[in-house]
Amino acid sequence: MGKAELDWGQYKRQAEKYIADPGEYKDLSGLQEMKKAHAERYRSLIGNVRSYMAEKGSPDKIKDPRFKLWFQRQEARNRFQSSISRHMEGMYYIPAAFELTDGCSIGCDFCCLAAKRLSAVYRYTGEHTREWRDILGVMRETLGDFAGAGLCYFATEPFDNPDYEQFLQDFYDINGYIPQTTTAAADRDIERTRTFLRKLGEEELAHAAVRFSVTSLKQLEKIHRAFTPEELYYVELLMNNPESVNAYSRSGRSIGLSDQMESKQFLDNISSICICGFVTNMPRHTVMLVSAHRPGERYPLGMRILEKRTFRDPAEYRAALLEMIERWMPCEMPKDSPMETADFVSWEQSGFRIKIRGDKISRAVTTGAAEQEGFRMLVRDGISVNDILTAVPMTEYEKARFLKNAELFYKSGYLEERREKNGMESGKDQ
Ligand code: SF4
Repeated sequence: MGKAELDWGQYKRQAEKYIADPGEYKDLSGLQEMKKAHAERYRSLIGNVRSYMAEKGSPDKIKDPRFKLWFQRQEARNRFQSSISRHMEGMYYIPAAFELTDGCSIGCDFCCLAAKRLSAVYRYTGEHTREWRDILGVMRETLGDFAGAGLCYFATEPFDNPDYEQFLQDFYDINGYIPQTTTAAADRDIERTRTFLRKLGEEELAHAAVRFSVTSLKQLEKIHRAFTPEELYYVELLMNNPESVNAYSRSGRSIGLSDQMESKQFLDNISSICICGFVTNMPRHTVMLVSAHRPGERYPLGMRILEKRTFRDPAEYRAALLEMIERWMPCEMPKDSPMETADFVSWEQSGFRIKIRGDKISRAVTTGAAEQEGFRMLVRDGISVNDILTAVPMTEYEKARFLKNAELFYKSGYLEERREKNGMESGKDQ
């Protein structure tokens, strides 16, 4: 059989080996030949995943208008701050994640969330079974059908929880979707992983329901030995081993790693997380409101933590979610609060134009001199919109245009309420 005639599962395996260890390949002609032969199959598989994700993660499903507008502002800001997020097809933001352990046993040295060591597991026993379903019910009640786009891991390893599969079953019962699983422990208990894949079945796996994070070449070998190409036909292998062609995001623990690995590419302009919403930790009984953010000095984990709450029961959980929505998600730009431009967004004034710049993108509006003065006060001096309207003489027309542009910048995520660091951004207090 010629190389181009390998079936998809076999070709996928060859491609995985190359991505994991490109230094081993001197002659790429065989791989390129196979790639061409499988291009149509690849398009169809990816197309299927994208249309499923677009349907499952459609913001039209968000029930609360405040959450919807906030979510859209976060998404717009991320795409403006990061050209990679903007151009990456199939990149979706999700509204909720549930952690079923406290910490993670894997300890990857590139962990962008700097997950701490595993210290507790939330088992599917006793009161937890009822509590878990109630917590899922509260999230669904709050977000509507959009809750189905959530995940059951975050800074955790799904298979650290021996009952992970049962938690997933409840998620499906309540939301009608099986959350995607990304595991770095696919080879820890091969039979468990195999049973999990079988139970999900082909149709679910074809929606990218399972991904294996591969952290070493040895692990890749073990996975390839343990599973047949057919078993992994739909399972995406994410090559996170140091030798792979894939880059790391420079956030969390990989910030320290970037000084030691000169040959590896570290990306500064994209967050490794895709959550804009609630991260609930079940063993700790905490819930954080977080937003993906391009990593940097202020947000080294690639996310902003807006607030963290504890809860004792589902009723307190509901109250915490609603209070955070009320506090952080106004439908309209707050006109009495000081504002500032989001990080990695800059602005300049020239002549009658105000230009806002993001990552390899800019947008300009035309304004008069009085509005220019107003914008200087808004973004440089931190003076609220209402105070500017009182202090700067403007005609009614200028006032309306100033407000319209400020609203536009707010809606697009370029302008935010001015905030102080809240001490949780480094992740030490997660
Ligand atoms: S990258 Fe994932 S598996 Fe690795 S330490 Fe972080 S949370 Fe755990």
